[in-house]
Amino acid sequence: MDKISLLKEIEKNIKVCEKCRLYKTAKNPVPGEGDPNSEIVFIGEAPGETEDLTGRPFVGRAGRLLEIMLARIGYKREGVWIGNIIKHRPPQNRDPLPDETLACQTYLTEQLKIISPKLVVTLGRFALSYFYNSGKISRDRGNLIVTTKFNVFPVYHPAAALRSPEMAKALEIDFLKIPGVLKNVKEGKIQLTKGSNESVDDSLPDGQQGLF
Ligand code: URA
Repeated sequence: MDKISLLKEIEKNIKVCEKCRLYKTAKNPVPGEGDPNSEIVFIGEAPGETEDLTGRPFVGRAGRLLEIMLARIGYKREGVWIGNIIKHRPPQNRDPLPDETLACQTYLTEQLKIISPKLVVTLGRFALSYFYNSGKISRDRGNLIVTTKFNVFPVYHPAAALRSPEMAKALEIDFLKIPGVLKNVKEGKIQLTKGSNESVDDSLPDGQQGLF
């Protein structure tokens, strides 16, 4: 099966998912979308109101800012893959609960296995700590984190950037680094940001590790 068909199979499962409580209050699931052959994926937290209404990721105000940032580095949203950790909107946009994150984990794991991106750009605190348990967004943003499975590049969430000019500036600075980081990753020039092999985190269920 090709990547598109494999991703469609996962979407079918997401559409009927009742593994946690969120399907009861959400209007539509938001599986993720974009180019399955993209070298970069952008991963947010969970759908908000507009995403819930449309079934598409990052289509509200934060999504418009994401599109502007993508354009700054020469991408259109259709040219990359955009998704979330949580596929159904939490009520009133509350933080996802640990059991909801765990229940949803298999979907993103499978999606990323199929897409096999060279770089995972995490949007915000929640997505960073999903991939790197000991991550701290204010410290780690704009720095490549090499885990056993992914090259992770954390940036602030666009919604946070809409609330704070400092975060907007930081988001822009970090986004402009992405093409260079991708190039380095592709050439195997991976720079560990803080010494090496320190603070390896074994606690995630699928063995993700942080190698600072
Ligand atoms: N915020 C997110 O984390 N994801 C979306 O899809 C929209 C807003």
